[in-house]
Amino acid sequence: PLILGIESSCDETGVGIVRGTELLANTVSTSMEQHVRFGGVIPEIASRAHLEAMVPTLQRALDTAGVGLDDVDGLAVTSGPGLSGALMVGVAAAKALAVATGKPLYAVNHLVAHVGVGVLDGGELPDRLGALLVSGGHTEILKIDSLTEDVELLGATIDDAAGEAYDKVARLLGLGYPGGPVIDRLAKEGDGKAIRFPRGLSLPKFVGTAEAPGKHRYDFSFSGLKTAVARFVEQYQAKGLEVPVADVAASFQEAVVDVITKKAVMACTEHGMENLLLGGGVAANSRLRQLLQARCDSAGIALRIPKPSLCTDNGAMIAALAAQVVAAGVAPSGLGFATDPGQPVTQITLADLHKV
Ligand code: ATP
Ligand code: MG
Ligand code: FE
Repeated sequence: PLILGIESSCDETGVGIVRGTELLANTVSTSMEQHVRFGGVIPEIASRAHLEAMVPTLQRALDTAGVGLDDVDGLAVTSGPGLSGALMVGVAAAKALAVATGKPLYAVNHLVAHVGVGVLDGGELPDRLGALLVSGGHTEILKIDSLTEDVELLGATIDDAAGEAYDKVARLLGLGYPGGPVIDRLAKEGDGKAIRFPRGLSLPKFVGTAEAPGKHRYDFSFSGLKTAVARFVEQYQAKGLEVPVADVAASFQEAVVDVITKKAVMACTEHGMENLLLGGGVAANSRLRQLLQARCDSAGIALRIPKPSLCTDNGAMIAALAAQVVAAGVAPSGLGFATDPGQPVTQITLADLHKV
């Protein structure tokens, strides 16, 4: 089916058009520059930016794909999780389009879409699949038995997301926002073993064993790591010494990447998942890709990483998941659903809740 998908959960306004597993258009407009001076996404600004960008982004996606709204078989939109006001702009736009065109509308889960997008790069996804999602807002390990029916959350961050940790550490090192790309680059000039920063939730009391799993076996924590980096920097500054920025960046990155790759591979091994998909904006990280590939190779796990433009937030991922939802025969969501800023990953699509 020809599906048009709309994404507006955070700071990217995205409209994507797919035909089954074929990508026809993926137009993204971001308000990131407007958040730079605040060091993080400001919800109110993001919502306004979506309102400005939505229709031009839609127009450009249709032009790129060379299709008209009449050609579309179905519409899709992110209902959650994400920023409430930001989500509302996308959902309102999608409902208006559905009313105007009479096409069915599917409300889909943003996180599951980060996995579903995999079909656009490398073809159909295997049934039993693990997913490691790392972005500015999420750090999660998923077990997927069916992308349209059965998604389970195995573990998640209990405080900051990985991308958020990159952004906060970059800020305290005076490297600007977003922090991920700068730290990634700087780390190449530093020594990742120079400073041993804490690996969150990796003590035996949290991890346990395969037979007797600890409460946080597959969970993450990055706020202690961020504090450790801050203390380290403060100590240098207090002594009037120059902070070894490249070594700090490399050692911080090593701590993040070490835990997430270890836990993701452990989850796959223990749940019989022979395939792992990496998604989210932090998937662009060069060290993460390298170490995850090496550890997957040793464990006999096939790793899939969609190209970067499909890993960061975009509309094509929403369209790609909806195409699979349509193919699985799931009913459309109707027009009486709301946004769900905290939509759990187990809720793949939303049903029409409003009964008149
Ligand atoms: P969501 O969490 O809803 O997916 P988001 O906008 O926060 O939304 P993305 O756009 O997917 O997430 O990713 C942005 C994050 O990715 C930022 O925190 C940024 O620092 C991080 N990032 C981008 N490139 C890299 C990189 N090379 N290394 C590490 N982190 C990176
Ligand atoms: Mg973003
Ligand atoms: Fe995302």
